[in-house]
Parts: sequence; structure tokens; C-alpha cells
Amino acid sequence: MKFRKTLFRAVLAALALYIVWAGWQVARFTRYESAPAAPSASSSAPDGLYELQGAYHMHSRFSDGHKTVDEIARVAAAAKLDFIIFTDHGKPNFASLDAQGRKSGVLVLAGSELSVSRGHLVALAFDRPAPDHPFSQNAEIAAAEVHSLGGFTVIAHPYAKVRWSWGELADYTGLEIINGDSVIRENFLRHLPYYPLLLVKPSFAVLKMIDPPDVTLAKWDQLLARRPERPMLGFYSTDAHFLYRAIFPVLHLHVLLDSPPAADFADARAQIFAALRRGSFYSAIDGAADARGFRFRRDGPVLRVSAPFSFAHETIIIHDGRVIHRSPATELALPLTGPGVYRAEVFLRERSPLDGGVPWITANPISIEKDGR
Ligand SMILES: [Zn+2]
Ligand SMILES: [Zn+2]
Repeated sequence: MKFRKTLFRAVLAALALYIVWAGWQVARFTRYESAPAAPSASSSAPDGLYELQGAYHMHSRFSDGHKTVDEIARVAAAAKLDFIIFTDHGKPNFASLDAQGRKSGVLVLAGSELSVSRGHLVALAFDRPAPDHPFSQNAEIAAAEVHSLGGFTVIAHPYAKVRWSWGELADYTGLEIINGDSVIRENFLRHLPYYPLLLVKPSFAVLKMIDPPDVTLAKWDQLLARRPERPMLGFYSTDAHFLYRAIFPVLHLHVLLDSPPAADFADARAQIFAALRRGSFYSAIDGAADARGFRFRRDGPVLRVSAPFSFAHETIIIHDGRVIHRSPATELALPLTGPGVYRAEVFLRERSPLDGGVPWITANPISIEKDGR
């Protein structure tokens, strides 16, 4: 009897300690905001680009997601997203493709997540195949089929869930660097204290669970070395199946367009897919800080980075897998040091639930040929 009482008191004390600790953590959480004039879908930045924010890779009830497309679009609207991209499982998933359109003011696009011989492959922007000619189960053949129908492919969660088995580097356009669903599902024990907080302060909890994607980034640099002429693109993916409200505010793609998104849905969809295919976007963890306005581009013999943020941050420039420059500056001009592939990552240096080793922003690579082109 006495033992039971002591145990009960110990459990109560532990619970009280947990609540105090969790309350303190959540109370200290700040999301850093950008300048009010940051670029958006309706007003261009000084460089004339329109910046759309959206979430990529998610599932609806058309496969193993827990909400309908319309319900998810409403969640996206509440998170102030300009677009979302469904990737329901299928070969492709025709029902999901049929549900595209403008919903709750959000551009709702769809591709499909194909289960192929090497893992999961996301196919985007393709013309639909005939229903009796679904995409192949063979990874390389499927990528070629998607390509021949005008689309492109992204390797999903290469080191989590269904892992990708690397082989010949076929015609893949990109790979996922961070995958929201695996962030939440993996490392269960380490994440245990944060699961209850998904109900209280979801974006804080998700931020706490993101581990540095070191293995994927190292693999990305290897792939870039193997195919520098057509550099692989990096995507932050939500892969949301049920926690849409928690993940949508956290992991974003920022798509850069030369003109505002067209009023016609099909045209706007084509603009977004074209920008993704050519790498005119960057990935960011906006749940930690507003990443609008970031730019990484080549300007003749120099690389230029704009990181117009008032809070502390650090940009690193990577050349052929090696860090060649680190800077806390908001504007950076770095002379090219030779041919190869250059890319940039930005780290948040303010106090944040985001681990200091996780790139807050990941920019797409810029490839310089031997003759300097
Ligand atoms: Zn998957
Ligand atoms: Zn998925």
C-alpha cells in the first residue's frame, strides 16, 4: 500500500515537472518574422520575381491520407499557402489528378507517388498515361516514361521509410532532403517528449523533431559530382498523411516566377511546375523563421546571395561538396573559383527549436562548366 502511494506521488511529480518543462519550452518559442514588404505571389521583389509559398508531397483520402482534398486545401489556406502538391500513391493516381484546381484560394496541384523497384518516386507535371498503360514498376523505366509524357521525377525520402537503392543515375530531376512524415515517425524515443506538444504547439513540436539531414546532403553532393551538367534539385517535402495542420506551416517550397501566377488554373499550374523543374525555387523551414526574399544566383563571374533577414543567420557556400565560405551578411558577392557545382545553405543563428545543424534554407545548385559558362 505504502509502495503504491509512493509510486503514485513519483508519477505525479514527474508529470508536473514535464508540464513545467514543456510550458517553458513552448513559451520561449519565437518564430522570426521578415520585413512586411517581403515578396509574395501578388507583389514582386526588387528583382522582379514573384514568390509563391507552398507545400509539396502529401496524401489525401485518394490514397492513405486522412482528409479529403477539399479539407486539406482549407488547412493550406489557413496556413496562407499559395499552392499545395498532392502525391497520392498510384501508377498514377487518376482520382487525385482529377481533383486539381483552385480550392479555398489555393492552387491545388497533383502528381503521384510511384512505388518502384528502387523505392518511392514522385512523378510530377506529366500528361496522363492511358489507364491500361500505367507507369512501370521498374524505377529507371518509370522515370523515362514520366519524362516522355512531359513530366519529371523526384526521389522521395531516400534514407527513411522505403529507402532508395541507388544504382545507375537515371533521369531523375531531384531528391527529397527533408521529409516531414519521416521526421515525425522516426527516432520515436528521442521525440517522445515532443509528441504531446503536437496538440499544444504543433509547429514547435515538428521543429524539435527535425534532425540534420547530413547523410542525404552528402549523397546529394555525390550525385551532383556524378552529373554536374544537369544538377539534381533538392526538395523539402511534407509527406503529410494526417498532421496537415502541424506540418504545413513548417516545411515550404518558395517558387520564383517571372510573372504573377495566371488567373487560369491550368496556366498557373504550368508556371509552378516549370519553375520547379528548372530549379527556380528554394526549400525553407518557415516554421522557424519567415524565409521570403532569399536569393542565390549567378551574376557573371560572381555568385550572389541575398539573405535579407534582420535576425541572425549564417550562409554557407558549398563548392563540389566542400564549404568554401561562411558569412552572416545579408548580401554576399563571391567570385567563382572555378568550374563545378555551387550550392548554398542558410542556418538560423537565433535561439530556435530548430537544431543548429539543420539548414533553415537550402538553395538549388548552380553548375559552372569548364569554359566558365
Ligand atoms: Zn513514400
Ligand atoms: Zn508520400
